[in-house]
Amino acid sequence: MQLWNTYSKEELEQKLREAGHEFVTVSFYKYHQIPNPQIFRDYLYQLLDNLKVVGRIYVATEGINAQISVPTNNFNRFKDDLYSVDFLNGVRLNVAVEEEGAEFPFLKLKVKVRNKILADGLNDETFDVTNIGKHLKAEEFNELTSDPNTILIDFRNHYEHEVGHFDGAILPDVDTFRESLPLIEDTYLKGNEDKNIVMYCTGGIRCEKASAWFKHRGFKNVHQLEGGIIKYANECKEKGLANKFIGKNFVFDERRGERVSDDVIAHCHQCGAPADVHTNCANEACHLLFIQCDECKAKYENCCSNECKEVTHFSLEEQKAMRKGLQNSNKIFKKGRVDHLLAKLNQEKEVSFKH
Ligand SMILES: [Zn+2]
Ligand SMILES: [Zn+2]
Repeated sequence: MQLWNTYSKEELEQKLREAGHEFVTVSFYKYHQIPNPQIFRDYLYQLLDNLKVVGRIYVATEGINAQISVPTNNFNRFKDDLYSVDFLNGVRLNVAVEEEGAEFPFLKLKVKVRNKILADGLNDETFDVTNIGKHLKAEEFNELTSDPNTILIDFRNHYEHEVGHFDGAILPDVDTFRESLPLIEDTYLKGNEDKNIVMYCTGGIRCEKASAWFKHRGFKNVHQLEGGIIKYANECKEKGLANKFIGKNFVFDERRGERVSDDVIAHCHQCGAPADVHTNCANEACHLLFIQCDECKAKYENCCSNECKEVTHFSLEEQKAMRKGLQNSNKIFKKGRVDHLLAKLNQEKEVSFKH
C-alpha cells in the first residue's frame, strides 16, 4: 500500500473541487515522547487519509505538530479517531478564524518524520520539554499582562510580529525560534528570575517549549498563552473580552494572515505606505516574502524589484535557462532584508535610531 501521493498541484486542486468538500482548517500539537515515530507516522497517515484530511504533519520523538484541513462532514469522526490515540485524547484543536483566502490552504496529506517537531538548536539531555509553564486563558492573560511589572514576550519571528502583535509586547528581532531562545534570555530575562514572564506565539507550540526551557533555566514564574493567538482571538470573540491583539495574526499556510483587529500596523516594503499583506515575489527564482501595497503590486507586477519584473517577462523556458546553475537561496522569509527594498531599510534605520 502506498502511503503518500504523487499528483501535481493542478490535479490536486481539481480533485478537491470535484470532491466538493467544505473544509475546516485545524492545527494541533502535543509534546509527548514517541519512541517509534515511523510506525506512528504510518498509522496516522492511514487514519487521516481515510477521512480525506489534507495538510502537513510532523512527527518526532518529542511529539506531533499538525496543520490540516478536515472535510466538515468528517469532522466528528476525525475527532473521535484522533482522540482514540491515547496521548492525543482531549488534545486542543485550534480552529482557524474564518476568512476568505486561498481556495484550499492545503492540497494533499503529508505526514513526515522529523528530528524535532520544532527546531530549537538545544542539546541538553536533562531538559524535559513536557515540564511546561503555567497556561493562561484569554481572561487570565489580559489580567496578568495589564500589570506593568509583567514581562510580555512575542515568541514569533520578525516577519510575523511586524503585521500584528499584543499591545506592549517585547518584539525580538529574530529570524528563527532557535535564535530566539538565547537572545531573549540574555537580552530581556536575565536578572528577572522572580518576575512574571508571559509568552505567546501563533498556536502555542513555540512558547510551550520556551516556557519549559526557561523553567529549566531557573525562571520561576513562566506563563504561556494557552492555544496562542488563534485561541485567544476566538475566546475574545465568544466571551466578549477586550482584545489586546492589534493587527493580523501571521499564519504559515497560503492565507499568510488572519485579521484579528482592523489596525494596519505595518508598511509596504517598497513605498512605505500602510499595508500588511505579505506576498511572494512573482519571479520564481526570487520568491522573496515581503509586504506590498496594492499600488506597488500593480506597478511592479507582483515583483519585489524592477529586475525581478523584467525576469517575469521572459518565457518560462527562458526563465528556467536563466536560473540554471544558480543556487536557490532559501531567503523567502528574509522579509525584505535585501538592499533594494528601500522603504523597509529606512524603517529599520528609524527603529534602531530610536533605541
Ligand atoms: Zn507600496
Ligand atoms: Zn524578487
